[in-house]
Amino acid sequence: MKIHEHQARDLLASFGVPVPPAHLCTNAQDAARLYKEITDQAGTDLVVVKAQVHAGGRGKAGFVKLVRSADEATEAATFMLTNRMVSNQTGPEGLPVSKLLMAAGVDIAHEYYLAITTDRATRQNVLIASAEGGVDIEEVAEHNPKAILKTPLHPLLGLQPHQARETAFRLGLKGKQVNQAVKTMTALAKCFLAKDCSIAEINPLVLTPPTDAHPDGQILAIDAKFNFDDNALFRHPDLQALFDPAEENPAELRAASHGLTYIALDGNIGCLVNGAGLAMATMDTIKHHGGEPANFLDVGGSASEQAVTEAFNIILSDERVQGILVNIFGGIMDCAVIAQGIVNAAKTYKNNDGSTGFQVPLVVRLEGTNVEAGREILKQASASLPTLQAATDLSDGARKVTVAI
Ligand code: GDP
Ligand code: MN
Repeated sequence: MKIHEHQARDLLASFGVPVPPAHLCTNAQDAARLYKEITDQAGTDLVVVKAQVHAGGRGKAGFVKLVRSADEATEAATFMLTNRMVSNQTGPEGLPVSKLLMAAGVDIAHEYYLAITTDRATRQNVLIASAEGGVDIEEVAEHNPKAILKTPLHPLLGLQPHQARETAFRLGLKGKQVNQAVKTMTALAKCFLAKDCSIAEINPLVLTPPTDAHPDGQILAIDAKFNFDDNALFRHPDLQALFDPAEENPAELRAASHGLTYIALDGNIGCLVNGAGLAMATMDTIKHHGGEPANFLDVGGSASEQAVTEAFNIILSDERVQGILVNIFGGIMDCAVIAQGIVNAAKTYKNNDGSTGFQVPLVVRLEGTNVEAGREILKQASASLPTLQAATDLSDGARKVTVAI
């Protein structure tokens, strides 16, 4: 599960990371009002306006703007609230923006990158840091990997003080900056474990220019991203409360409410499969035959007829779907339940033109428990299933659906 930047900032602050205060706003009038409020309080005319969406790359996409007047704040807010945010981390359709974060603009002397995640190769958590943080961190990782410092964390000891200090020195920090950075790294490591994160990232972690009050500058987190392990969410009601359904794919939410695992993809062949492994194999086989899967839909081992019917509704709600492949290898799953679910869906599915039934080609491969009964149900209902073709095996099914669309 992901959260918004404003939530991530609050979470980091609760662990002791220095984060500048921020405000939320949802319309352009509020943006002008907040601009005045923030500038009055902070004694600066610089304010940052940031779109709150579950994706990064906002800076480059024009969805993080520094403004110097209430009019500029209104303009930035209007732009962000009326355009979809398209970045290298979203699809080409982008994400709608309904909330903005506004904060006093921070003077930046240098931007650093700091994150903790799990390194699957070494099966250890790893602290990742770079003195080349900011919006180009992906390019740095690709073209100058030496600039990315990685420190493996001991499974029991976690981030040790000497590791944090060494990282701070290697980032080139000096004087009082070192202890500030150590404190931030330690807090991030604590938060990562306590909240069962899969990634906890601060980019940029900034150093501010020296002032009389802070001759060595200040270390501040001005952007943060988190991803949490969904399987551990049951023990974090505080995190569950941060879930924002508006950021999720509606079809995926609808599927989850019926106990189905659905992930939307870009192709045009809808897949209905039981078991994640079989779903993977099905998508591979479709690709092998030159097709493109439109989704990954796993009805699991014990789906009801209603769930199967709902699965069809979800698949067909994707307007790109031009054909469906059902691939069921019944173990615990009863093929008759699947067949009845297909028939019910065909009888009740309403097309845009008002007619009922499936208009797209439907290829069904059923094998396993109670398969004869399942085939009989489909045969009896053949009048309701004019586009149905039976497949003898997975490869035959993938070929047939690819040819049919
Ligand atoms: P992202 O592009 O989605 O990761 O959004 P960020 O919050 O990281 O902002 C992108 C970039 O905008 C940062 O790397 C900074 O260079 C700049 N930026 C963001 N907030 C401020 C600020 O308060 N002051 C200044 N000077 N620059 C900022
Ligand atoms: Mn960022």
